[in-house]
Amino acid sequence: MEKWVTSLGEPAFRGRQLFQWIWEKGARDFSEMTNLPKPLISQLEKTCELNLTTIHQIQKSELQGTSKFLIRLGDGKFVETVLIPEEKRVTVCLSSQVGCALDCDFCATGKMGLLRNLTSGEIADQLLHVRQVSERPITNIVFMGMGEPFHNYEQVIRAANMLNDDLGFSHGARKITISTSGLVPQIRRFADEGHRFKLAVSLNASDNDTRSSIMPVNKRWDISDLVKACQYYTKASKNMITFEYVLLDNINDSIQDAKRLQMIANQVFCKVNVIPYNEVAEGYARPSKKRISRFVEALEGSQFPVTIRWSQGDDIDAACGQLSTAAQGES
Ligand code: SF4
Repeated sequence: MEKWVTSLGEPAFRGRQLFQWIWEKGARDFSEMTNLPKPLISQLEKTCELNLTTIHQIQKSELQGTSKFLIRLGDGKFVETVLIPEEKRVTVCLSSQVGCALDCDFCATGKMGLLRNLTSGEIADQLLHVRQVSERPITNIVFMGMGEPFHNYEQVIRAANMLNDDLGFSHGARKITISTSGLVPQIRRFADEGHRFKLAVSLNASDNDTRSSIMPVNKRWDISDLVKACQYYTKASKNMITFEYVLLDNINDSIQDAKRLQMIANQVFCKVNVIPYNEVAEGYARPSKKRISRFVEALEGSQFPVTIRWSQGDDIDAACGQLSTAAQGES
């Protein structure tokens, strides 16, 4: 912004003011920017556009208060953003791509294929929209909506930096989590660049055959490549990784799976989130409560903490792995 306003003949501090108006104060019209000079405002009105994204629809879960926002992008495509209020925190789950190329077999977004990457502005805009509607302040931001964040690495990091910036949302870096299905080179890059955001890795299986059958990314980088990259990251950053493990009935939920998961996770400074599946894809189901408890009990005594995360909003298809938009291309 500073560089850009300087190119218009304005002093650099005007760029900071503009950034603050858009991202901190959420201005949706240039005329609201009262500390900018009138000639600059009229130039902005002629040459720039705010509000490139709009809320198309909001669905609220009857069960848990989770809301799913259908956001319309400037080119008529749609992404989904989810607001998850819980007792002690309010989390927003952001999308990073329209669709996804990774094609995980159990995931509704994967079935769409990749339509395009989002820009950093389109990613950060999702938070602006949700913040205006949320009854409570946002405490946590997760990049776990539509898309593989590390497949759109530059724009995702740029968006996370904007959310973290003191002149923007001032959201603490340790309250921003970026998730990946296991793109090994990007995990190493993330470590090398020293970002302070948290990292979550979707593991979802404890052996290569199963993981490759549900997550094709495993054919490119298998579990041992992934573990080495995670060790590299935790050593460089001194930060813990979260392994996400979506529990699929009779696929990855046996006691043997739990024991193998324990061996994998014991090699990494991590915690493990076990997420009982929300049924969206044919051939996959959520395990019974008994099988879920048996799996978690088999993890007892591990060196890492384990939590069960019940995804919220499954009655409105807003839960983990359920995001997809049938409305693409509507005008
Ligand atoms: S689980 Fe994530 S990485 Fe896999 S297809 Fe779905 S959105 Fe893409």
